[in-house]
Amino acid sequence: MDQNDLGTDIEKVLVTEAQIKHRLMELASDIDRDYHDREILLVGVLKGAVMVMADLARALHNPVRMDWMAVSSYGSGTKSSGVVRILKDLDTDLKDQHVLIVEDIIDSGLTLSWLLSNLRSRGAASVEVCTLLRKPEALKVDLDVRYVGFDVPNEFVIGYGLDYAEKYRNVPFVATLAPHVYR
Ligand code: 5GP
Ligand code: MG
Ligand code: MG
Repeated sequence: MDQNDLGTDIEKVLVTEAQIKHRLMELASDIDRDYHDREILLVGVLKGAVMVMADLARALHNPVRMDWMAVSSYGSGTKSSGVVRILKDLDTDLKDQHVLIVEDIIDSGLTLSWLLSNLRSRGAASVEVCTLLRKPEALKVDLDVRYVGFDVPNEFVIGYGLDYAEKYRNVPFVATLAPHVYR
């Protein structure tokens, strides 16, 4: 899929497919280096992190384990509720595991902040975070995020796993939507 397939839906492309690919290779090599003596458990946060997880995991040189969690914080709209609910929990016991949470985007940071304390409370040896995108201006909590792909402006974005009302997750780049899409 490319921008031509989307007619007038896209307002502006913020991060291209090539930029994502290149940056994930860089992050993967940082992760390979940092974890050279430890086994990682990648924890992907459904559904948004599916694309990041697939591409980041394949860019790593070391075999890893992967597990998934689904939490809800946004409905079909564009505002954070701040309320986090587990929709699907991990299958893996985190005791003594080195966990790397893989996220699509950190907006207010409320979801991640909740997730960090939840996973830490299960006895993980370490919990770090890798996110493709971060909105620095939207952050409401102090978060220590080890691996960040791109900082983006405080606007609602879609693509590369990110949806609007469950659509556009398969768009291979990150973009803002034209106003008419929201009506
Ligand atoms: P936070 O709790 O950091 O405010 O947001 C957490 C979740 O909300 C993200 O993992 C993502 O699923 C969703 N989200 C936040 N900002 C955006 C955005 O700009 N676009 C889309 N599609 N989802 C977002
Ligand atoms: Mg997410
Ligand atoms: Mg969503």
